[in-house]
Amino acid sequence: MTTFPELLALQAQDTAIDQLRHRRAHLDEQAEVDAATNQLAAAQAEAAPVRAEVDALTAQQRSLEDEAATIEAKAAGVEARLYDGSVVAHKELEDLQADHRSLKARQSNLEDAAIEVMEQIEPHRAVLDGIEVRITEIASTLADATERRDAALTVVDAELEVDDARRAELAAAVESSLLATYEELRSRLGGVGAARLEGRRCMGCHIELPSADAQVIRGAPESDVVTCTECGRILIR
Ligand SMILES: [Zn+2]
Repeated sequence: MTTFPELLALQAQDTAIDQLRHRRAHLDEQAEVDAATNQLAAAQAEAAPVRAEVDALTAQQRSLEDEAATIEAKAAGVEARLYDGSVVAHKELEDLQADHRSLKARQSNLEDAAIEVMEQIEPHRAVLDGIEVRITEIASTLADATERRDAALTVVDAELEVDDARRAELAAAVESSLLATYEELRSRLGGVGAARLEGRRCMGCHIELPSADAQVIRGAPESDVVTCTECGRILIR
């Protein structure tokens, strides 16, 4: 004869639910998601200053190219005036030619400067490309791990729903003051509020009770709620 078998069934169910909740909180897939999230943040932090450098140099290159284009247009205007017959005075023609030469020289200097900046960009761009390839790979790993994590959560949550419903049924079968004692012990003693007494050993704390205590416990009426003299858990005889 087992005393309070309904309490033992409830304890077994609670232990199973606790294990399931522990599994839910420590999913391997969650660890993978966390690791990939950290790697992604690190790679993005690594890319940020390199990208800023590439952007700044690119802006500098464009500005030089724009300036060169403006000068080129100006030189073309001067060249047109040289050949459209509107200027005939020798001195004025010479001045225009000098202007044109000077503008073309400035244009050439600006274009050379733009090429120099472009060459400076190249090594930064190569580094950035490498980091971006890594970011893409990590993002893909993260998406995959997140998908598997969510699938694992769905499975565990479905199991928990079934187990919680079963738990409610089992708890309803336990007398209310006994249930309250059990809940209090369970919350205080690592999730185990009731344990079998096997021989003289309490299966809650795994300590052998003194023979005299065990004898008193064994001899108590079946309806009595007895507790372990070592750990205080309800003993199921
Ligand atoms: Zn005990």
